[in-house]
Amino acid sequence: MTSVSLGIPAITSATGPDPARPDHPGLVDRYGRVATDLRVSLTDRCNLRCTYCMPPEGLDWMPAEQALTDGEVVRLVSIAVEQLGVRQVRFTGGEPLLRRGLERIVTGITSLRPRPKVSLTSNGIGLARRAAALAEAGLDRVNISLDTLRPERFREISLRDRLSDVLGGLAAAAATDLHPVKVNAVLLRDVNDDEAIPLLRYCLERGYQLRFIEQMPLDAQHGWERSNMITAEEILQHLNAEFRLEPDGEERGSAPAERFLVDGGPAVVGIIGSVTRPFCGDCDRTRLTADGQLRSCLFSQGETDLRGPMRSDASDEELADLWRDTMWRKAAGHGIDDPGFIQPSRPMSAIGG
Ligand code: SAM
Ligand code: SF4
Repeated sequence: MTSVSLGIPAITSATGPDPARPDHPGLVDRYGRVATDLRVSLTDRCNLRCTYCMPPEGLDWMPAEQALTDGEVVRLVSIAVEQLGVRQVRFTGGEPLLRRGLERIVTGITSLRPRPKVSLTSNGIGLARRAAALAEAGLDRVNISLDTLRPERFREISLRDRLSDVLGGLAAAAATDLHPVKVNAVLLRDVNDDEAIPLLRYCLERGYQLRFIEQMPLDAQHGWERSNMITAEEILQHLNAEFRLEPDGEERGSAPAERFLVDGGPAVVGIIGSVTRPFCGDCDRTRLTADGQLRSCLFSQGETDLRGPMRSDASDEELADLWRDTMWRKAAGHGIDDPGFIQPSRPMSAIGG
């Protein structure tokens, strides 16, 4: 029995093309941004139950017939790369390693020209077995989520006893040259907010690049509270107690993480202050869900259905145009601080984080 269902937002493409959209082949929007980074969710399912992401009982998973097939994923991504100027593709979920055809999909995408950079955001469970095959298929890099180094705490946060699998996945990624291996950590007040320093030490010792992510209002349970969130500022304060941090001097550009040299470098740590230090003005992302819905932002209230038109024989050019229209309408920012902010009905695990 599941108690939280997956909200399916309104379809924005029903409003039709905007005549003001310029005749540009790429994914441009009204604020001068150009999307070149595509996040593809390969499944909404997961083998963990991180409390800040989904409820203990899981969600009403997407019915199989609604999910894109491997071939449909490759077709849509090839339109993005060959016609719309996408240059980076990241597979995510849910847990993308639960997708059996992942290696086949990666092979399909790395065969495209121009060849995009291909990466994976994963909880790392099962990566130890698959890292070599994924690297062989052309996967360039991975980001692995790791919120704690303590087994009992891992169970408390994710409701599963899998810390050793995650650490094994990380080690395999490093050994397989999926570099740089990046680690994503979310700190939760009174749960793991005393682990900023141990996590950074662990990553420094192994050459992993750690990034802390502020908790966002994207959990399926809608339990996020701003007052409870560990802010970028607090994370910096924690780290400053042990390490000397200084901005790395690189332009942040469209990268979400502010990067700091640790003790003079070359090692760096990243802080992704999505809520308190938003980077929407430089966002270069476009998103495709596992059921073939396009989103211009994690926080979009609307989606554009590509699966329906694709299964009704739409041409590549028609699908590309739907994509351009969707991105043209992208909002200026996520609006978390606006009085009328409404959390999207689709949770992070079903959008693709
Ligand atoms: N299952 C994979 C994983 O955990 O890496 C991929 C999907 S997960 C939704 C992607 C990232 O989003 C993870 O690093 C996770 O910690 C993060 N995440 C999930 N819910 C979040 C939230 N409410 N706020 C901030 N980050 C969140
Ligand atoms: Fe699964 Fe990732 Fe969500 Fe954790 S954050 S429950 S690993 S999708």
